[in-house]
Amino acid sequence: MSKTQYGVIDAKQVATWGDEADVVIIGLGCAGVCAAIEARESGAEVLVFERASGGGGVTMMAAGHLYLGGGTRVQKAVGVNDTVEDMFTYLMMNTPEPDEKKIREYCEQSVAHFNWLVEHGVPFNDTMYKGKHVLQMTDECLIWSGNEEVWPFRDKALPAPRGHKVAQVGELGGAKMMEILIAKAKALGVRIVVDAHVHELVRENGRIVGVGYRVFGEEKGHVRARKAVVLAAGQFTQNEEMLAKYLPELLDPGYTRQYTPNDDGAGHQLGLAAGGVVKHMDGALISAAFYPPESHIKGILVNKLGKRYVAEDCYHSRSSIFTTKQPDRKGWLILDEQTYAAEPQHYGAYPLVDAFDTVEEMEKGLGLPKGSLVETMKKYNENAAKGEDPELHKGKKWLKPLTHPPYAALDASVGAATYMCFTLGGLDVSIEGEVLDAKGKAIPGLYAIGGCASNIAQDGSGYSSGTCIGESTYFGRRAGRHAARAAAGR
Ligand SMILES: Cc1cc2nc3c(=O)[nH]c(=O)nc-3n(C[C@H](O)[C@H](O)[C@H](O)COP(=O)(O)OP(=O)(O)OC[C@H]3O[C@@H](n4cnc5c(N)ncnc54)[C@H](O)[C@@H]3O)c2cc1C
Repeated sequence: MSKTQYGVIDAKQVATWGDEADVVIIGLGCAGVCAAIEARESGAEVLVFERASGGGGVTMMAAGHLYLGGGTRVQKAVGVNDTVEDMFTYLMMNTPEPDEKKIREYCEQSVAHFNWLVEHGVPFNDTMYKGKHVLQMTDECLIWSGNEEVWPFRDKALPAPRGHKVAQVGELGGAKMMEILIAKAKALGVRIVVDAHVHELVRENGRIVGVGYRVFGEEKGHVRARKAVVLAAGQFTQNEEMLAKYLPELLDPGYTRQYTPNDDGAGHQLGLAAGGVVKHMDGALISAAFYPPESHIKGILVNKLGKRYVAEDCYHSRSSIFTTKQPDRKGWLILDEQTYAAEPQHYGAYPLVDAFDTVEEMEKGLGLPKGSLVETMKKYNENAAKGEDPELHKGKKWLKPLTHPPYAALDASVGAATYMCFTLGGLDVSIEGEVLDAKGKAIPGLYAIGGCASNIAQDGSGYSSGTCIGESTYFGRRAGRHAARAAAGR
């Protein structure tokens, strides 16, 4: 794929404006469509440019979990007690550099945001998937999708499941949500131009006032944005040059990157060219899940020194990222006959190395230092028998001595297990989505939302499923509303 040069030109270089609208949005994923709907409902004329032949973006690949809480209709219906304060405390603890104002706002508005989605046609069933899964294949809604029950979070905030999956059997909840919201945007009169690749912004007296775009490589001229341009162009997972600069680890063939061909960081690059700055660009969701089956959570993860390194009951991206930080990025999930065979159906990320009759044999077979695994398992088993894990505080319900041979070792190492990943970093933006410069000042006329903006999701170790779509849709709406109410630029 040829590389696009993204940039900013001066309005003096624009001979004629081919079209105009109050708010021009670049990208029709979940962030862009929510911004478009809000801007339109606030009375603005809205024009969306979408590079693909139809909207949806990477959101179409998502199972469709949204991280929402504080007492949503679904939480109440299934008897889950949750409060804004608990959700706030949890998200603050899980975010490396939490923006308190944004997290507070997101939690306080979470129920209202859920209701907005429902009012705009997005269905959620009043049901809960009770098992531990990466993504439930049923159309049940609520699921534990983060580290809420994991130490130390469980001691500070009352745990509650907050992953809300769009009512859809299987993996395509994101696609269902997008079909519904795009139809809604069209019905409201949002204009959408597809196959339209925006490659430049137009600046006039310091303000962003328009965009230039191509269709199948042919220049189509410039379109004026009377009030604002909103960057909603998604992540940069596909852009190897940006990865080399910000996240070189993801170029390792041991990682499977998840992206659409248009995830080249167009929004990031246009924002940077306009004077914006990026944040948390080394943050990624990296995950090689080893559950289901749930019984595998009763196993232990050890590194090449034969030592445990993470509580195995945590969110799959957290345990995965801890594995990537171990010597040589190697780790193994150790199980015994009862925990391995309890549920033979695997999610498939960790290949079986072998089965061993004794811990000593397994230690040798895995090439671990003599006595290391024997000692680790002895200590773990003694404590597990008492329902304790003083070392890593794994939850009681997952503690079971591993004392029934044969023992199984599954390979958690990068290069052996299947590590999926996508990027999280984006442009620094205000709570309204305004793109900020290095001094924290809003660049007039320019907003960024979704995968090309940095809001709550910053790294994989604190991530909870649903945060990306939750924040993209919420802050997308907020930016759309703010942009629609902005004073016109001329
Ligand atoms: C497999 C997978 C599953 C996931 N599951 C979940 C989940 O269940 N819950 C969750 O919260 N998060 C999930 N995520 C993350 C989440 O899907 C994304 O963070 C979120 O959808 C981003 O939304 P967006 O609107 O910013 O980007 P997108 O949905 O990617 O939309 C961006 C749009 O911009 C268009 N575009 C790009 N460049 C240009 C340009 N120059 N000109 C015009 N248009 C352009 C693209 O074609 C695209 O349509 C998942 C991610 C993956 C990869």
